[in-house]
Amino acid sequence: MAATKLTQIMKQRQTLSFELFPPKTPKGMANLEETLSRLKIFNPDYMSVTYGAGGANVGTNRVVCQMIADHGVVPVTHFNLIRHTRESIREQLDQYLEEGVDHILALRGDFPDGENSTCGDFNYATDLVSFIRDTYGDRFEIAVAGSPEGHVACRSLDADIAALKLKQENGADYIITQLCWDLDQFERWMDKIRKVGVTIPLDVGVMPIVDIKTTIRMALSRNGCVMDHELSKIISKYWIFPDPFDSNPPFQDPAREQKIADFRKAGIEYTIRQLDRLRMMGIDGLHLYAMNRWKDVDYLIREAGLRTVI
Ligand code: FAD
Repeated sequence: MAATKLTQIMKQRQTLSFELFPPKTPKGMANLEETLSRLKIFNPDYMSVTYGAGGANVGTNRVVCQMIADHGVVPVTHFNLIRHTRESIREQLDQYLEEGVDHILALRGDFPDGENSTCGDFNYATDLVSFIRDTYGDRFEIAVAGSPEGHVACRSLDADIAALKLKQENGADYIITQLCWDLDQFERWMDKIRKVGVTIPLDVGVMPIVDIKTTIRMALSRNGCVMDHELSKIISKYWIFPDPFDSNPPFQDPAREQKIADFRKAGIEYTIRQLDRLRMMGIDGLHLYAMNRWKDVDYLIREAGLRTVI
């Protein structure tokens, strides 16, 4: 059995966790050491590490998992099916277990560019969950993704919820949710999944709003998330003219630096209001997409009073 049962903790109180990604450069790795020291002071229940399509970055992912463990925090590795055979999945999961990583977020992953399948032995996260349970019993604690607005490619929200229920039936222990700023929709989804019998704990993924480009990119590049009216207004108010995505614009917005700072402040305040509302809904955990930016997370946690409450 996994050494620490996060779901046991979730039964007692709301957990707090952070999501990190494996840096691509030596400088990024060096900075990560400070990020871990800074985030650790908030006593997170776990820190998770993203996993690239096809396991391209599995080496760095494993190093980051070990760095997290060395800081005395439970590492959770993300894992996806892209370009994986049964055998390559078994090889990598054996290695994680040997290295003491027994928590996993079991994902399908996004199809490789130009493909319309995983290009591997399995098609869905439901298959991966079954495979892990059949092969390893309860040696892994398994998280799965949930999409409050429905996965971007799903046929319908009901079909997506049925797939989520299948993940539970196949052995998933808890859910980590995709971005969702539309909290009315989040509440409706939570109600729906509970009504159809999805009972496992709900750990809510929250991306701190600190940067206009990242916010738009995360919402629209893959996830198809609604930006609610309040968030849209913040983006409009601090829009950098002529175009925040243009690295070589024909003219510079004279208020550029001020707008960047003001957007960050307004974005954090917005995130805090979202966190307040989520915490009132009876969720089981808050999972902050820290994106290796400890300063933003530190500011957010202190301003939101998360540390004193949790
Ligand atoms: P699935 O649950 O397999 O769902 C994919 C689609 O298929 C959905 O439309 C669903 O409705 C449908 N479906 C599911 N099961 C079935 C079934 N049995 N039969 C028919 N239809 C089915 N990606 C990465 O590559 N690396 C990461 O580190 C990473 N981290 C993430 C962290 C979080 C918290 C979340 C929420 C997502 C993350 N992703 C990551 C993105 C994820 O891989 C993509 O969203 C991917 O497109 C779908 O993954 P999934 O596990 O939700 O897939």
